[in-house]
Amino acid sequence: MSTKPIDYRSDTVTRPTPAMREAMAAAPVGDDVFGEDPSINQLEEKTAQLFGMEAAVFCPSGTMTNQIAIKCHTQPGDEVICEENSHIYQYEGGGIAFNAGASVKLLAGDRGRIKTRQVAEAIQPDDVHRPISRLVSLENTSNRGGGCCYAFEEIVSIKQLCQEKGLALHLDGARVWNAIVAKQENYLDYGSTFDSISVCLSKSLGCPVGSLLLGNRAFIKKARRIRKVFGGGMRQAGSLAAAGLYALDHHIARLEQDHLHARMLGECLQKKSFVKLLLPVETNILIFELQEGQSAPALAATLKERGVLAYAISPVRIRLVTHLDISESDIYQTIDIFNSL
Ligand SMILES: *Cc1c(COP(=O)(O)O)cnc(C)c1O
Repeated sequence: MSTKPIDYRSDTVTRPTPAMREAMAAAPVGDDVFGEDPSINQLEEKTAQLFGMEAAVFCPSGTMTNQIAIKCHTQPGDEVICEENSHIYQYEGGGIAFNAGASVKLLAGDRGRIKTRQVAEAIQPDDVHRPISRLVSLENTSNRGGGCCYAFEEIVSIKQLCQEKGLALHLDGARVWNAIVAKQENYLDYGSTFDSISVCLSKSLGCPVGSLLLGNRAFIKKARRIRKVFGGGMRQAGSLAAAGLYALDHHIARLEQDHLHARMLGECLQKKSFVKLLLPVETNILIFELQEGQSAPALAATLKERGVLAYAISPVRIRLVTHLDISESDIYQTIDIFNSL
């Protein structure tokens, strides 16, 4: 067993690199609640511009950017349409109800992705008995879907439906970077299709903290008010923004490496007798299901003894996530360990 475990539990486990720490230490800062932190202002402008959106607001977490977006788009009692495995539903503590007082319509998708036809069927008729369908939220890449990506045409078709029916369209783009790199997509297409976009810096991009919510000027003005209500107004947080600025320049193109590493692990696992099912590996997340009678927590414990940390996301499913702190030699070492099981 190596002294330092190879940690595939999440891409949130990365530590800032020495160069990122230097950028953080050198960052000019100010009071961001007064709009006076130059580094945060620069990060907000740069990210908004990248996606061709009017404005952005920097927040401590992706949960907060999603929840602010939901609160801004809805009134209490309105309905949010999303896939049943969505982060906004599964992992945000019931925040849709808690923060926005909104109800949720869950759709069963294909690895986290929903179809236009399903959304069309889910939109409530204009009837006093029903909640008002107000918002559709998509997740790309899909976390519980094993990092899979939407076909952009599907997103465009959902947007057309939303426009016809007067619904807003939000993107939980915690890992949209991975989708854009993997599918060679255009940032501007995202910006022109979604009414709001949440992106994370602390996942695949390797920053210690931070997410941004993007939208038009009026929306982001409202979002700043909600951020303050949620307790997310930060002061001299420019060092965190500097990490983001550094990551936008240096940590996006390299995602291709993480994707390659995930594919290498997938090719090995596919041949293992203990693996019943491997979800297609499209980006940096790999999910596999064990044969009947095998336990994911037990396998995770065995791997841990060998110095590999994995996450049992269900009694039978294991998730591995590749990231900035996983090297090629880590991958070969992990493959050797799988081969010895
Ligand atoms: C991680 C994640 C978030 C945000 O999580 P935080 O830990 O609050 O930053 C949002 N959506 C998806 C799909 C995620 O994977």
